[in-house]
Amino acid sequence: MKQQVEEYLKKVYQIIQKRDPRQQEFTEAVTDLLKTIGPALEKHPEYINASLLERLIEPERIIQFRVPWIDDKGNYQVNRGFRVQFNSAIGPYKGGLRFHPSVNLSIVKFLGFEQIFKNALTGLPIGGGKGGSDFDPKGKSDNEVMRFCQSFMTELSKYIGPTRDVPAGDIGVGSRELGYLYGQYKRLREAERGALTGKGLGYGGSLVRPEATGFGLAYYTQEILQTLKTSFKGKKVVLSGAGNVAIYTIQKVSELGGKVITCSDSSGYIVDQNGIDYKMVQQIKEIERGRIAEYADRVQNAVYYPGSIWDAQLTYEIALLCATQNEIDERKAQLLANNGAKIIAEGANMPSSAAAIDIYRKQGIIYGPGKAANAGGVAVSALEMSQNSTQLRWSFEEVDKQLQKIMHNIYQESVTTAAEYGIPDDLLSGTNIAGFIKVADAMMAQGVV
Ligand code: GLU
Repeated sequence: MKQQVEEYLKKVYQIIQKRDPRQQEFTEAVTDLLKTIGPALEKHPEYINASLLERLIEPERIIQFRVPWIDDKGNYQVNRGFRVQFNSAIGPYKGGLRFHPSVNLSIVKFLGFEQIFKNALTGLPIGGGKGGSDFDPKGKSDNEVMRFCQSFMTELSKYIGPTRDVPAGDIGVGSRELGYLYGQYKRLREAERGALTGKGLGYGGSLVRPEATGFGLAYYTQEILQTLKTSFKGKKVVLSGAGNVAIYTIQKVSELGGKVITCSDSSGYIVDQNGIDYKMVQQIKEIERGRIAEYADRVQNAVYYPGSIWDAQLTYEIALLCATQNEIDERKAQLLANNGAKIIAEGANMPSSAAAIDIYRKQGIIYGPGKAANAGGVAVSALEMSQNSTQLRWSFEEVDKQLQKIMHNIYQESVTTAAEYGIPDDLLSGTNIAGFIKVADAMMAQGVV
């Protein structure tokens, strides 16, 4: 059986290579899954007979569109918009929109693919999708962002809806963008709040949604610490990023007794041995839309360094990756290990390369993959959908309690699955297999879909 599984996996890998030879990020995300689900295929040969993987790696639908808009100087601009409706076996497509110059089909497909399993792990009824544009909100006026969002939604609105596909935010899409997107959706379709999540509180948003990914990452890491019979108390944490995920991770880790001593943006990083002040990061990055270097001008004893935080020589036990994909390669992973990292958890999607993950394994570092560790955001999005459909608003405590429970369940399920499939302590395999089985079983039950 083992050999049959290996041959099957090889065949699926070849299909990807042949069909999408230049989609590097997507290929990486699929390979990461294929490398770990062998034990699940051995136990479920019916998946192989039903060509399940061949179906799973092909998005149900890809929408690509032109986004024309006019800038403040009156010039015409054209961007490219995407929505990948990857898999609806468990529920309506669900996943964010990313506005960043790096966005292309490979990136949106990798993000959509990850989202399928992440969403399945939450235990909530949501399928996987992702979208975005190569539009860069950085340096644009509010009016330009609004005109872009209106044009983007004019096309996207034809394909989404509360029971069909429910977008939310991601890098470059925060409360401002979601407000403009929702405003346009409503003009074209209906005042249906459940068509987007991450909305403002005044028009159908959920409490805890802004904090959810960061809080969830902190709760997930706390689960790991509890298994090790310890806690965040007195522990130094090094973190990358300075956006939504980073800000609320810093807040929750500090509340749980840890000390986050760094944060970063694409130009450089801050080291603040007194512990990063998340409110200052929020002021600089979210309100003023400035650069993280300014933190050092405003906070005594904080130092700014240009370059990557993962080249820094600091001592710490916990590293939380909250920036973007592929920020850690083999060399940086080795440096992390040399710096003393014992636990690594991912607030971003796929920040560690395959070679980096191999180093974590060799060095005995506990590794919490993004699919599990950053699932808090989309989980609370699903809770926002529940509140929208019942016209109710839950309290902060209620949503936060549910988020904690979901993160606890995701962690426990990954651990139990790893043990059940004979690979105890392998959180990555446990996570991938647990998510995969849920999606695979739902697909099998629905026939040739
Ligand atoms: N963009 C987030 C993620 O990567 C959240 C998606 C959502 O809330 O739908 O999971």
